[in-house]
Amino acid sequence: MANNYLQQNRHIFILLAVFFAFFAWSYLSQYKAATKISYSEFLEQVENGNVQEITVKGESIEGTVKEEASYQDTKYTDFSTYFPSFGDQELMSELQEQEVEVTTEPETDRVFWYIIISLLPMLLIFSLIYIQYRRMQGQGGGGGPFNIGKSQAKKYDQSQEKTTFDDVAGSQEAKVELQEVVDYLTEPGRIQEMGGKIPKGLMLVGPPGTGKTLLARAVAGEAGVPFFSITGSDFMEMFVGVGAKRVRNLFQDARKNAPCIIFIDEIDAIGRRRGAGLGGGHDEREQTLNQLLSELDGFEAHENIIVICATNRPDILDPALSRPGRFDRQIMVDLPTTQDRLELLQLYTQKKKLSDDVDLDRLARETQGFSGADLENMLNEATLLAAREGQETITHNEIEAARDKILMGLKRHGLVMTDEEKRMVAYHEAGHALVGALLPNADPVHKVSIVPRSQSMGATQQFPDQDRYIYPKEYLHDRLAVMMGGRCAESLVFETATSGAANDLQQATKMARKMVLEWGMSGQFEHMALGSAGGQVFLGEELGKTKEYSEATSQAVDQEVESILKDAFEQAKDLLSRHRQALDQLAQTLLDQEEVDGQTVYSIAGISK
Ligand code: ADP
Ligand code: MG
Ligand code: ZN
Repeated sequence: MANNYLQQNRHIFILLAVFFAFFAWSYLSQYKAATKISYSEFLEQVENGNVQEITVKGESIEGTVKEEASYQDTKYTDFSTYFPSFGDQELMSELQEQEVEVTTEPETDRVFWYIIISLLPMLLIFSLIYIQYRRMQGQGGGGGPFNIGKSQAKKYDQSQEKTTFDDVAGSQEAKVELQEVVDYLTEPGRIQEMGGKIPKGLMLVGPPGTGKTLLARAVAGEAGVPFFSITGSDFMEMFVGVGAKRVRNLFQDARKNAPCIIFIDEIDAIGRRRGAGLGGGHDEREQTLNQLLSELDGFEAHENIIVICATNRPDILDPALSRPGRFDRQIMVDLPTTQDRLELLQLYTQKKKLSDDVDLDRLARETQGFSGADLENMLNEATLLAAREGQETITHNEIEAARDKILMGLKRHGLVMTDEEKRMVAYHEAGHALVGALLPNADPVHKVSIVPRSQSMGATQQFPDQDRYIYPKEYLHDRLAVMMGGRCAESLVFETATSGAANDLQQATKMARKMVLEWGMSGQFEHMALGSAGGQVFLGEELGKTKEYSEATSQAVDQEVESILKDAFEQAKDLLSRHRQALDQLAQTLLDQEEVDGQTVYSIAGISK
């Protein structure tokens, strides 16, 4: 960090160093090796006729003596002293009498200091402006005001440690598609002879942390051709037109190095839909995007340049980007499947010492929804934990703790809760868990915890048996009932409601709305998709869009949502009141142990599993 700062501001440091050197030099050069003597000593030497010559500069006098003299035990030939401020009328005549050669010089010193002092504030201001300016140029931007339009692309050094497809676990389809690109770049003739055409642009699409950037780097490693990598935000500057210039330069560089690959990471930073969004268009971004589009159109397939881009927000991209001839080939890089997760876990544990009780198969099944980056992070946390505890190997306990940390947040030690609060949390979680255990279509309960953590006071973990890609209605209804289980237990036992259910209610409502609006799962709007239930929608678009249904329908939708949620609550209530004893027992066990595993929950519920 500090190093980086030094590097970025090295101009200023050099400037400062030069100034200091200059000051030091001018200061020291005034007083060569002259010995400082008193004025009386000087007068004495003059009267003795021992003074050869003097130079008078303002009030300071420097000179040499004919014969080495000594002052306070120091022998000297060169001396310096000061003329008294009250004056000495007789000095000049005395000097003439002794035939001392007198030179007078203007007081350059004063002038010099005057200039420096009056310039200093300006200098400071300029330096500050300069630093600020460099900062706005973006961290580590390549040097100085004159490079502002230079493409910021990093050219990959092939001699560095190579990333290859072997470093990427899973993502089989993506690898096949990208292998094609590699083949084309390494022997362009073959495919052309067959009359084939390789797309100019590919788009890697998928959630964050699924290895898109990694895949692109692997392509570079495999192809052995120059690889220009740039991130969408690198194009963005505060000056209009700079981004466009950078795009132009990037493609120019690429042409010189063809065959080669250009990789634009996080393309959504510049590729947002144009003409939408609040507060008018963003000029700079539109110009940059236009430039990119025209560059994409501008080079021909035979130029052997392939542009790969990556994004996790394909929904907000300008449709012009995916037009034929541009990024017309989309490669999905999805969250890993169970099999992929197993491969990822194997890859990351290759160099780690695992204890025998770690079952990667089971872990792969119990990490649905984790991305490659999440898994890596989890194993890394586990390693750190094991090291902290001074263990030789990583056991299942550490991995479980690391996963809990990712799923539920950091433990909050030192949080003081009253017994009443603890009891409420225990009943809340017991409610979720028990409903989850009792309902046939709900995901199996893995663990219940009332350890306070950064994200919540307690949590119930459920892991599905297998990856799910479609959700049957029955599953969704049971899931809603599980979400309601927490609040339901509170109302059953304490005859009140707490704020602890906020998150549950939010999620449940969102899901119920989806069921009504998108999935046609309500009585009144069966088999009918009314529209989107919202979520991550492009802000400007959302506001501009007219609803596809009337105000009356809108009210009916609200009623349907309400009735779905009510049903779920009633279902949970029915279950919990019928199993009240189990609820009490589970809550008590939670209070005693803080964490209870799935098996215990099932045995308390009287279900053999
Ligand atoms: P993205 O660009 O899709 O957001 P990254 O490529 O930056 O994700 O992935 C982040 C990290 O996660 C990678 O550096 C890698 O260590 C790990 N990772 C993600 N997916 C995979 C994968 N399929 N195989 C190996 N490592 C992966
Ligand atoms: Mg990335
Ligand atoms: Zn809850």
